[in-house]
Amino acid sequence: MEPGTGAKQFAKEYYGVTNEIDIITVLQKLNYEGLHSISVDNRMKKCVYCGYYWRDDSLRNTKKTCCEECHRGKKTLQRRKQRADKALTNPNKRTQKDDYISWLDYPFWIGESSMENVTANYEVSYSIDHIDYIYTKNRIYGEGNRKRVTENIDYDEMDYD
Ligand SMILES: [Zn+2]
Repeated sequence: MEPGTGAKQFAKEYYGVTNEIDIITVLQKLNYEGLHSISVDNRMKKCVYCGYYWRDDSLRNTKKTCCEECHRGKKTLQRRKQRADKALTNPNKRTQKDDYISWLDYPFWIGESSMENVTANYEVSYSIDHIDYIYTKNRIYGEGNRKRVTENIDYDEMDYD
């Protein structure tokens, strides 16, 4: 990973290097040799995201990352880990419907008790004949059970033009 802005800034200030390659070389050397090779104070630390040494100039010396980009990168990783942990420890609750394997050519149930429970509670619609019967009754009697006048259409007499 490339050093963050904070780490690069540190290399520029402490080693007087200016070009990109020198900066990275200096920082990699420091990572290899460790902090004992230079004079340090308690503000020297390794960025938890990019992994290079930098110096924390913040007021309370509590920063963990060398720059804003590294801070965002660290947060993104944290969120990803949290989501993964949540999915592992708290998977969606299985229901009896999940025992029905419906995505194959021949769907089947894994458990017989699940099948009985789910299919018994299934809301079955009326048959076409029954719906027809209800519809006709409603047309004749309507609301309040009062019989309406129904017209009898004589289809033989109708003019279809
Ligand atoms: Zn960094």
